[in-house]
Amino acid sequence: MKKALFIDRDGTIILEPPDEQIDSLEKLEFVPRAITVLAQIAEEFDYELVMATNQDGLGTSSFPEDTFHPAQNKMVSVLQGEGVVFNDILIDRSFPHENTTTRKPGTGMFGKYMEKGAYNLAESFVIGDRITDAKLARNLGSQAIILHSKHTNSLTDDDRRTLPIALETQDWREVYAFLLTRQAPMRLAEVHRTTNETDILVKLNLDGTGKARIHTGLGFFDHLLDQLVRHSGIDLELTAHGDLHIDEHHTIEDTALALGEAFTKALGDKRGITRYGYYLLPMDEALAEASVEFVEQVSEHSSEQFSEIRTHAAIDFSGRNWLVWKADFKREKIGDTPTEMFHHFFKSFTDTAKCTLNLHSVADNEHHKIEALFKAFARAVKVAIRRDARNNAIPSTKGVL
Ligand SMILES: [Mg+2]
Repeated sequence: MKKALFIDRDGTIILEPPDEQIDSLEKLEFVPRAITVLAQIAEEFDYELVMATNQDGLGTSSFPEDTFHPAQNKMVSVLQGEGVVFNDILIDRSFPHENTTTRKPGTGMFGKYMEKGAYNLAESFVIGDRITDAKLARNLGSQAIILHSKHTNSLTDDDRRTLPIALETQDWREVYAFLLTRQAPMRLAEVHRTTNETDILVKLNLDGTGKARIHTGLGFFDHLLDQLVRHSGIDLELTAHGDLHIDEHHTIEDTALALGEAFTKALGDKRGITRYGYYLLPMDEALAEASVEFVEQVSEHSSEQFSEIRTHAAIDFSGRNWLVWKADFKREKIGDTPTEMFHHFFKSFTDTAKCTLNLHSVADNEHHKIEALFKAFARAVKVAIRRDARNNAIPSTKGVL
């Protein structure tokens, strides 16, 4: 079913002057980023674009027709030049005191959009800056995206509770980001893994913002998982109750298994993902050279040629598990975490996340060596799980991953 964006004009696409009437070309000025983001929306998403605007008394002596059209036509042609074409331009010309049904938030102009089965209004949005836009969304059975202008101040907490406002923002770019998430549902997974040795609960959101709540009972391990979250942009809640009175082995291994399982669940059929990701993590200026040579030759260079610390991570959510590991640790433990468990963590992760992972870290400082590796791993994951809104295919010639 078709979806629409009903977009307000004044205060949303173009700036509204103090007298609230754009009746000359000199008064025409676009809201920052409106053109860029509308062009992105028009190109990437399948919403019909509908402009909907109240123009008080248009056609009367207070707002003659010929003073309205130059700025309106210029605005439409500028947007058209960027690929933004409106299917419909709905203009109500009444004054507020007339209380017409066509004046927003009335739905008198929206008849064809409200015909049964014509549009998926629940997945359509009104984008505007005033409470009338939010009320229009309610009256249409849609949701509102409110772009702040000075007129937004009239929105009360009560309005925010009762009106279907999906997003309030100052920035058109956030409108794009929000609509992007609406193209496909967020990729979530919950895994509860219980054995005689450990009890682990994982809540994962691959489309998060880097929020972590992690408790494994091992401070340094928590710190590493925190790096994974921060640098990959996932949200992760992870609680592990393990048999630490014996040693750290089961807790780290089972955390990795549960985390990998959550990745597999959340990625689903992997539709639209980048699939591959790699990252070369620099720790000082000498790394610029190494990054150019990373793919072909990094392992053939001696470490003296570059910086102290060289780390790279490459990942493929291929459906097959494999780990290539090049990192030697000389200390037995870092903090409370045994260094021999680092390899085991990633091996266990690849087993349940069903990914191919290539990790390489060289450094003098052991703490740096593993921290850099987790950051590089996180950055590689971030690239690999990224979805392309324009290409929803499964990234394999086999058709399945
Ligand atoms: Mg407005």
